[in-house]
Amino acid sequence: MDYKQYVKIVEDWPKEGIQFKDITPLMDNGKAFKSAVDEIVAYAQEKEIDIVVGPEARGFIIGCPVSYALEVGFAPVRKEGKLPREVIKVDYGLEYGSNVLTIHKDAIKPGQRVLITDDLLATGGTIEATIQLVEELGGIVVGCAFIIELSYLDGMKNLKGYDVMKLMSY
Ligand code: 5GP
Repeated sequence: MDYKQYVKIVEDWPKEGIQFKDITPLMDNGKAFKSAVDEIVAYAQEKEIDIVVGPEARGFIIGCPVSYALEVGFAPVRKEGKLPREVIKVDYGLEYGSNVLTIHKDAIKPGQRVLITDDLLATGGTIEATIQLVEELGGIVVGCAFIIELSYLDGMKNLKGYDVMKLMSY
């Protein structure tokens, strides 16, 4: 499927100089959204995934239907102060700004095989921080899946040694 027809490019958002890739038209379209989720599920199928992990907020949108289809759980990674129980945390830099990400301390059991999902790989800071959280809890990251990679930002440099799939690149 040509997914790019469902991505709207928004100039200078959320700030000047950023060319934001809006995936809400893809989510609006039932066939396109299902096809995207199905491709990620097919990628993950042979990996014996125990749990899917996704950073807020668009990582949830992709990760939850994937975990449902794989019949495994989903663990949210959230900004500081959002998860109600004991967490571990990591500082990370974004394409625009910086942040702290957290995960519940008991979200992943040591040795569990983890698929990480997000809508978009930009600089790779978010995914690198998410991997750090998973690995600190003893999880094994067996795959990372994205709808979009911004290849000009070279986020893949932060993912050396990890198995990565993406549906489209800019
Ligand atoms: P990174 O940490 O790789 O620099 O940025 C990726 C994160 O920022 C992802 O969680 C993604 O949701 C968000 N993000 C950054 N730029 C864009 C964009 O152009 N479009 C969308 N949909 N998300 C973006």
